Amino acid sequence: MLELRAVTAGYDKNTPVIRDISLSVAPGESVGLLGPSGCGKSTLARVAALLHRPDAGALVVDGTPVRRWRHRAPREQRTAFGVVFQQARLSADPRLALADLIAEPLRATGRREGVAGRVAELAATVGLTADLLSRRPHEVSDGQLQRACLARALVLRPRWLVCDEMTAMLDASTTAALVRVVEDYRAATGAGLLAVGHDRVLLDRWCDRTVEWATLTGH
Ligand code: ADP
Ligand code: ADP
Repeated sequence: MLELRAVTAGYDKNTPVIRDISLSVAPGESVGLLGPSGCGKSTLARVAALLHRPDAGALVVDGTPVRRWRHRAPREQRTAFGVVFQQARLSADPRLALADLIAEPLRATGRREGVAGRVAELAATVGLTADLLSRRPHEVSDGQLQRACLARALVLRPRWLVCDEMTAMLDASTTAALVRVVEDYRAATGAGLLAVGHDRVLLDRWCDRTVEWATLTGH
């Protein structure tokens, strides 16, 4: 279970961006979180993925309350999450070839053997050809880069996926392809999903249930 309990968070303590938000995702469940731009969805997604420490409330992952965040979080908690953002170009290291981008979490967790094979396997899964793997982010399209970011998010076989406007920059066919990759992965592994976005049609089609931002606050 992924549980946000009465979470308040922001970028300075006096002006919280999200207040008293509670939301749970059951194991294997997919939950869409729908809200207008600027309401705080990305902030919530970052809290849910251990990337942003809340000012109040708690995040409980598979029964364990999170006490340390970002690089200070224990490895077994960090590696339970795969995260994909809207802004692939901002989050991807511009110096890394796509193959190294995908491999980075493997290397960061000390894996030395079978890295190339695992990268090739994931490239096939997300639909990246071998010639694209040697290119850097500025040498590929938004869709190709987002495919690599999704591969990177899956490379450690996370139990939880957090997708923050993953497809907002993409055309309909690339959107459908990436949603399919996520759903195939979830079907194979039982991973849970929190998908944040503003597109009701997409989230309703993609997720088991869609939650409106407005219903999360003020309880
Ligand atoms: P959404 O994802 O729903 O568009 P965000 O969580 O990105 O919303 O932003 C919510 C609010 O927090 C906005 O007013 C935004 O300007 C502010 N905000 C987001 N990121 C930062 C940041 N790094 N520093 C300060 N304010 C931020
Ligand atoms: P701090 O501000 O706490 O020093 P950093 O900005 O250096 O933290 O990032 C800390 C950790 O957050 C990274 O080691 C990484 O695990 C995680 N992180 C940051 N950005 C991303 C991202 N785009 N995708 C996945 N993990 C990220």
